[in-house]
Amino acid sequence: MAFAFPPEETVSLPIVGSDERFPVRRVYCVGQNYADHVKEMGGDGRQPPFFFAKPTDAIDVSGRFPYPPASDNVHHEVELLVAIGPLGVFGYAVALDMTRRDLQLQAKESGRPWEAAKAFDRSAPCGPIVREFEPSPRAIWLDVNGERRQEADLSQMIWSVHEIVEELSKLYDLKAGDVILTGTPAGVGPVKRGDVILAGVDGLGTLEVSVV
Ligand code: MN
Repeated sequence: MAFAFPPEETVSLPIVGSDERFPVRRVYCVGQNYADHVKEMGGDGRQPPFFFAKPTDAIDVSGRFPYPPASDNVHHEVELLVAIGPLGVFGYAVALDMTRRDLQLQAKESGRPWEAAKAFDRSAPCGPIVREFEPSPRAIWLDVNGERRQEADLSQMIWSVHEIVEELSKLYDLKAGDVILTGTPAGVGPVKRGDVILAGVDGLGTLEVSVV
């Protein structure tokens, strides 16, 4: 069997302490999983979890985030990434769910899909996967140009990693290679070209991303 043209390389994430890489199959995201962020987005903090997705090649490990076209209001969202392996949870990483907030608000108002707001190119900058990690309690935080913008603890997640995997499994056949971005705490806000984002989860290291 020959391809009509060369296929894209498999998207993958580095694994801390290993020469092997984690091949990414799908990228799921959890909406509104910290009560304080639900409130800042106009909710009442008690919704059940909901899910959306990004294309696999939205994953980016370059440390550079090209400011996307068609938006004047691109927000940072720091999130815990859960990586699913052949035997359940494989590891964890720091990730960003970059969001065209202006397009998301338009989509919400018109009852239309979120893809243009959430699933754009390189919208999921990620750090390397850490295999030995216990998710809670752990600080999760994000700085822009050295100024703290988001700060919370993973114990504030409304739906735990275990519950998210359980709920997602009711909707989809989760497979090895799937990753889940588990939602962001309060403090989301805009970035601009030239900004340096530094995000972290205690125990997972830091993720530095330059907005270019
Ligand atoms: Mn998010």
